[in-house]
Amino acid sequence: MRELLLSRIIDVPDYPKPGVTFKDITPLLADATAFGALTEAFAGLCERVQADKVVGLEARGFILGAPVAVRAGRGFVPVRKAGKLPGATLAQAYELEYGTAEVEIHADALKPGDRVLVIDDVLATGGTAEAALQLIRRSGAQVAGVGMLMELGFLPGRRRLEAALQGAPLEVL
Ligand code: AMP
Repeated sequence: MRELLLSRIIDVPDYPKPGVTFKDITPLLADATAFGALTEAFAGLCERVQADKVVGLEARGFILGAPVAVRAGRGFVPVRKAGKLPGATLAQAYELEYGTAEVEIHADALKPGDRVLVIDDVLATGGTAEAALQLIRRSGAQVAGVGMLMELGFLPGRRRLEAALQGAPLEVL
C-alpha cells in the first residue's frame, strides 16, 4: 500500500520557491484505488485510537480528512488559516522559517472530552500540526492521534511534535 501511495506522489523541484521540493499529491487523489486505500488506512487509525472527531489541516488535510471522517462515521472539523472561519474562534500562532503564521478552529467545534484524530498530508517542520494540537487541547478536547501521508525526514517535524503529542500516536503511512 505504501509503495502504491508513494508512487502517486510527484516531487516538484524548486516549488513554490527555489530550494523547496514540493510533494504533489494530486496524482494520488486522481487514482481511486490509491485514494481509497489511504482513506481506509486512516479510517482504521481512527477506529484504533477511538477518535470521536477528525480534524483536517488546511488545505490538503481537508481533502484527505473529510472522506476518512465519513468512512469512519465521525464528524469532520477544519483547522483553517486565520480569518477564514465565520464564527467565534480560538487562534494559535506558530513560527515559520521566516516569520509567523496563525491557524484557527471554531471555539465550539469540539466538546470537552472529545477524542480527536488530526489528518494532514505532509509533516515538514511540524509547526502546523503542533499549533493544531494546541487548539484541540485549548478546546478542552483530547488528542487521540495524528495521521500523516508522509514526513520530510530531513526536517525535525517528528521531534517537534513529540512533546505536543503527549504520548498520542503519530502514524505516517
Ligand atoms: P509544517 O508546519 O512545516 O510541518 O508544514 C506542514 C504544512 O505545509 C502541511 O499542511 C503541508 O501540506 C505543507 N507542506 C510543507 N512542506 C511541504 C512540501 N515539501 N510539499 C508539500 N506540502 C508541504
